[in-house]
Amino acid sequence: MISPEDIEGLIRPELKAMPAYTPIEPTEVLSRRVGVPEEKVIKLDGNENPYGCSPRIKRALADYAYYHLYPDPEQRELRKALEKYTGISAENILTGSGSDELIDLVLRLFIQPGDRVINCPPTFGMYPFSTDVCGGKVVSVPRKPDFSIDAAATKKAMDKGAKVIFIASPNNPSGNITEEPAILELLNSAAVVVIDEAYFEFSGVTVASLVTKYPNLIVLRTFSKWAGLAGLRVGYGIFPVNIAEYLMKIKQPYNVNTAAQVAALESLKDMSYLRGMIKAIIQERERLMTRLSQLDWLKVYPSRANFILCSVLNGKAKAIHQGLQKKGIFVRYFDTPQLKDCLRISVGKPEHTDALIAALKEIR
Ligand SMILES: *Cc1c(COP(=O)(O)O)cnc(C)c1O
Repeated sequence: MISPEDIEGLIRPELKAMPAYTPIEPTEVLSRRVGVPEEKVIKLDGNENPYGCSPRIKRALADYAYYHLYPDPEQRELRKALEKYTGISAENILTGSGSDELIDLVLRLFIQPGDRVINCPPTFGMYPFSTDVCGGKVVSVPRKPDFSIDAAATKKAMDKGAKVIFIASPNNPSGNITEEPAILELLNSAAVVVIDEAYFEFSGVTVASLVTKYPNLIVLRTFSKWAGLAGLRVGYGIFPVNIAEYLMKIKQPYNVNTAAQVAALESLKDMSYLRGMIKAIIQERERLMTRLSQLDWLKVYPSRANFILCSVLNGKAKAIHQGLQKKGIFVRYFDTPQLKDCLRISVGKPEHTDALIAALKEIR
């Protein structure tokens, strides 16, 4: 009989060697880990919407009558609604099970084992993760100390034959945007340029209208952050038509489940409510920014998203992260060479800001 070790021998060696992605954990797990009741947990580690989704979604999901039928494989109604929302034709749009799925699909379309993908860290971990899973080669072009893209170094890497480059704008975890001139420079190349606008609704800055002008530009967006649908997994991309058609062909036919499609549609019908929540989050971001900046042992980076990156200057980042956890406050802690002693704090409700600031003052 074949042994488990023999089976291991069948596994693609590059997947055995690849590092795992570090996901965030759900509230009930965090609650149990630190012994703080779930309703007391302040979750500022996932850039999720503290106000939840549109209240109309509960009703829409309860009333929907066709869960026994497969969803529309072409996502026609949702793509039509996104045409109205984005101002870009439905034939340029494809939705996915989160924009994470679209990152994976784009790489599957272009990347053969050994092909190069440019990643500009510190940034979203799914780009190198999905590149690794596809057998691609991650070419790392680090951002500058202010977290802007290193234009000269990316150009050099692109000239060496990279097929795809990912730029998150606003960038996660640094919060800064990449300005249009810098993106235009990247577009003047033979590579596919993916601009990940997961936080577009908070930044108000987009290059979506350029997609119909540049055959190598892809813009990704998601309902996870602004619309509060992280748990239902729905995102979309704006693609040149030929790329959209290929992606439609290679995606799993029913990739976005019915509940996710219903919820996304309902969100787009409840924009005045959701815009109010976005506005509240942006206002709270500015207040959180001011309060954090008053702590002289933090260096706070400006943000166009729904989170703020800070660097802890007193050398106690890890202890502060743990101290916050003990109080049921969860933020993201980084300790990589580029993000030494850094915390990324998602913008919550005003009372979350107050609890966080009080806790930080106490712990330091
Ligand atoms: C959160 C996030 C995503 C993932 O969005 P999903 O639609 O939930 O998969 C994509 N890109 C960036 C930069 C993010 O921060």
